[in-house]
Formats: sequence, C-alpha cells, structure tokens
Amino acid sequence: MKTVTILGSTGSIGLSTLDILERNPDKYRAHALVAGKNSELLSKQILQFQPSVAVVATDQVREDVRARLTEAGLPANQFPALEVGRTAQEEVAAASETDIVISAIVGVAGLPATFAGIRAGKRVGLANKETLVTGGEMVMKAVKDYGAELVPVDSEHNGAHQCFRAGLAKDVRKLILTASGGPFRRTPLWEMETVTPEQALNHPTWKMGPRITIDSATLMNKGFEVIEACWLFALPPSMVEVVVHPQSSIHAMVEYCDGSVIAQICATDMRMPIQYAMTWPDRDEAPVPRIDWSQARHWDFEPPDETRFPLLRLAYKAQEAGGASTCILNAADEVAVEAFLQGRIGFTDISAIVAETLERTPSRSLTTVDEVLEADHAAREVASSLVEERGRLRSGGRMRQ
Ligand code: NDP
Repeated sequence: MKTVTILGSTGSIGLSTLDILERNPDKYRAHALVAGKNSELLSKQILQFQPSVAVVATDQVREDVRARLTEAGLPANQFPALEVGRTAQEEVAAASETDIVISAIVGVAGLPATFAGIRAGKRVGLANKETLVTGGEMVMKAVKDYGAELVPVDSEHNGAHQCFRAGLAKDVRKLILTASGGPFRRTPLWEMETVTPEQALNHPTWKMGPRITIDSATLMNKGFEVIEACWLFALPPSMVEVVVHPQSSIHAMVEYCDGSVIAQICATDMRMPIQYAMTWPDRDEAPVPRIDWSQARHWDFEPPDETRFPLLRLAYKAQEAGGASTCILNAADEVAVEAFLQGRIGFTDISAIVAETLERTPSRSLTTVDEVLEADHAAREVASSLVEERGRLRSGGRMRQ
C-alpha cells in the first residue's frame, strides 16, 4: 500500500490521479489532498477518499469545507486535519506518511510544495511544469542531493522517460517532443487577433485546465516543455526539437546516433502517464482503453509555424539565456493568460506582453524558492502594467469604432 499526497486534487490532473486511486484501493491511499478554492469538490473528495490532511488556499475556504462536511453528516472526529497555506502544503509534501507526491497545482504556486517533496527525497510525479521552468537548476540539484525520484507526468516527458530507456545517454542525438498544434493551427493569421477565450479553450485532443489549454493554443506550453525537457534529461535546447503531430498519439521520440528513432505511443489520456509515474519501474494494467490497431489510422507530422507561434522560439532563447529568464517568461505568461481569459487583452497580446516583459525585466541567478518567487513577483508587476496599457488601447480602439 502506497500513500499519496496530491497537490492540486481539484484540478484536471488531480481528478485523473484520484481516478487511479479509486480503481486501486488495495494499492493506494490518499494521505493529503491539497486544493485552492474549490471547497465543494474538495469536500466531496474528502468524503470519498478520507485523507488524513486537507490543505486549502484561504481561511474562508477552510470554513466552507468544514461547513460542507458537517452538512454531509460527517462527525467532527472523522474530519481530516484542515490546514491553510504554503507551509501546510510543504509539510504534507514532505510528510513521513507520504510515499508519492503528485505535483499538479497550476502555476508557480506549485513550486514550494513540490520542492519540499523533493527535499524530503520522495517519489514526485511532476505535472506542474512551472517547477522546472522557474527553478530548474535549483530543483535538479535538489533531486540529486536528496535522492528524490522525479518522474515526469507531462505526457511528452513521460514518453521521453520511456524512450530514453532504449539506449545510452551518450548515443542520443535528439529528443523530439510532439505538439498537437492547438486549435489555431490553420486559422488565418489576421483572424488570430480576434479569437475568443471560448475558441482558445477548445483544445482538439486534450481536456485540461484553462491555463495550459491557452498555453497550448499559443504553443507557449510547448516552449515550457522544451525547457522542462532540458532540465529533466540534461540536454541543451539545440537537442530538443518540436514537431506538430495533430493526432497526439505519439508523445515523444528519441533519435539515437545510428538513426534509430524510438517513439512512445499510447492513448491520449493523462491517466496513462500518471499511473506510470506512480508505478515506475513496474507497470500496471492500462487504466484506459488501449489503442485499437485493427482500425485504419494515419498520423501527420509538420514543423511548427514560428511566425504564428512566436512564443516557442522565445522559450528556446530564454533557456539559452539562463538565470531568471525562464522564470520571467512563465510569470509574464501567467499574467497575460489570466488577462486574456478575463477578456482584458486579445489573444495575440499574450505573446507581445511575454516578449516585452522578458526584455524589460533584469535577469539574475536563482538559488532558493524565495528568490524564484521574488523574480516571479517582479516580472508579474512589469507584465501587469503592460496588460493595463494594452487593455486601455483595446477599449480606446473599441470606442473609436
Ligand atoms: P487545473 O487548472 O485543472 O487545476 C489546478 C489545480 O491547482 C486545482 O486543484 C487548483 O485548486 C489548484 N491550485 C491553484 N492555485 C492554488 C494555490 N495557490 N494553492 C493550492 N492549490 C492551487 O490545472 P491542470 O490540472 O490542467 O494542470 C495542473 C498542472 O499540471 C499545470 O502546471 C499544468 O501545466 C500541468 N499539466 C497538466 C496537464 C493536463 O492534462 N491537465 C498535462 C501536463 C501538465 P482549486 O481548483 O481548488 O482552486
């Protein structure tokens, strides 16, 4: 029996993880569930999975959870410990009662607890890509120093983790990450200025949380994945290539010196990589239907269009620049994506704001979580003022029409 702490249990990855726990009650038990504000869903999860601890973002959410559990008839002596905030998140990730941490809080908010789990030497199933995008060097050093097992959950890196097992590191020529291309792969460039959040949230192959879905539409997500891959597999950006593969069936490929290319293929369902991250080096029975090879199918590949998706190239540049550049890139993108979802800026403003924030914010080396969070904060301020400027321009433009 393994005990699991889920950071972000109320999100898309959190729900898929709980589905694996539900199917395997003899193998896994929830030690702690960590959520942000969704008290309704968290309360249901507490009733079903009976964790020892639940952590939320604010005192108000904790009160809501308490009220809901009471209303559901749970005796107070059967409540889990109900905690709030960063320190409590870090404690449940590092707790001796936890064997596996699934890191699935969205954004840089996921870094402190993930880092705490790593410093406690846990098996960490890493979905939160911001951990490596914002603090890659510090995080990978801690993985080594504290003997943690960092197994990627992001499907591309999870696929790569499997492909790398076919040969020696010295013989690898390149890692190829696939990208679906998002919903705007074929949208005329002039139309992209006016696409709505609803259109951008309509991902062709994956069902995910809102931020990563918008990042997939701008290809920022693929840029983050390039950065994540560089840290995870100790590769220079020049050895990580992106290819658009709209069917999202091949997740990653590794090309070796002899020209052989090893690909990882599986159903487009996050329960596959989550389960692998929990069981590796063993494998369990597939949690979802397998690919049906008796059906005719075709798979397409094309290079990414960097004019349409400038954030991909920017991610390469930020990784090459090092220091705080990738942290700034992420902070600016978090701010810009939120503003786009709120209808304050247009879709193409996202890349413009990220590029300008990167230019305007000074970089430095980052060695602690607090330094990462400070750099994140500084970049957010710059990005927020750019959002204001662009927002004003937009509403001025509307008024003139
Ligand atoms: P969601 O938006 O669906 O879920 C985010 C989770 O984070 C929710 O549980 C939310 O809680 C929680 N959360 C947000 N802010 C805080 C906070 N300050 N403190 C505690 N909890 C917080 O995101 P996804 O599940 O889609 O993605 C999670 C991470 O995994 C992201 O980094 C993403 O890039 C990565 N990822 C996701 C994939 C996917 O298929 N979804 C694939 C690969 C990577 P609440 O809702 O209660 O506020």
